[in-house]
Amino acid sequence: MALTWNRPVDWDYGDWRKAAACRETDPDLFFPVGTTGPAIDQIESARCICHTCDAIEACLDFAITTNQEAGIWGGTSEEERKQIRKIRSATNRIPSHN
Ligand code: SF4
Repeated sequence: MALTWNRPVDWDYGDWRKAAACRETDPDLFFPVGTTGPAIDQIESARCICHTCDAIEACLDFAITTNQEAGIWGGTSEEERKQIRKIRSATNRIPSHN
C-alpha cells in the first residue's frame, strides 16, 4: 500500500482510503528513489494505478493538505504537488472584491 495506514489521522477525509487502488500493491512503487533511471518506470507504473483509482481526487487533496512531500499521491509527483501548492497559495492570496 502506498499510503501509511497507521499514522494518526485527526481530520475527516472520509473513507477514501478504502477505495485506494494501491492497497494491494508494493508500497515501494509509490515511493521511488530519485527521478531518473528505474525510478522513471516506477513513477509511470504508479501513475497508471492512480489513474484507475476512485480515490484519486481525495488522495491528492490529502497529500496537498497534509504536505506529503515524498512519493506519488493522486497521480502526482513531488514536483507536481509543489506546483499545485504554489498555485493554491497564490490563488488564496488574491483579494476578494465582494
Ligand atoms: S490515487 Fe494513487 S496513491 Fe492515491 S490512493 Fe489511489 S492509487 Fe493510491
